[in-house]
Amino acid sequence: MLHLALHFLVPALLVSLFYRNNWKIAYFVMIVTMLVDIDHLLADPIYSPNRCSIGFHPLHQVWLVVLYVILCFIPKTRLVGLGLSIHMLLDAIDCQVTNGVWAN
Ligand SMILES: [Zn+2]
Repeated sequence: MLHLALHFLVPALLVSLFYRNNWKIAYFVMIVTMLVDIDHLLADPIYSPNRCSIGFHPLHQVWLVVLYVILCFIPKTRLVGLGLSIHMLLDAIDCQVTNGVWAN
């Protein structure tokens, strides 16, 4: 439950610090990036509490995480990149807590 809450709280903290003037659109874009979890629909079971997402689901591959970080450095894709990178970081921390690894 804490993991899910962090997916909302960390972007909220970020926009409150760096996107004060347009926090609504910034927060919206970052929350929409959570749609990356749509790849869980391909897994069986769809949700498994002790499964490490990173390196398991198609949109959670390590090489894609590198791409998500690169998006942070391009002004037009920065918010999407930040949303995805924060998401992957939180998922990786979850892997560390539940499985003792950063990725599959
Ligand atoms: Zn995820």
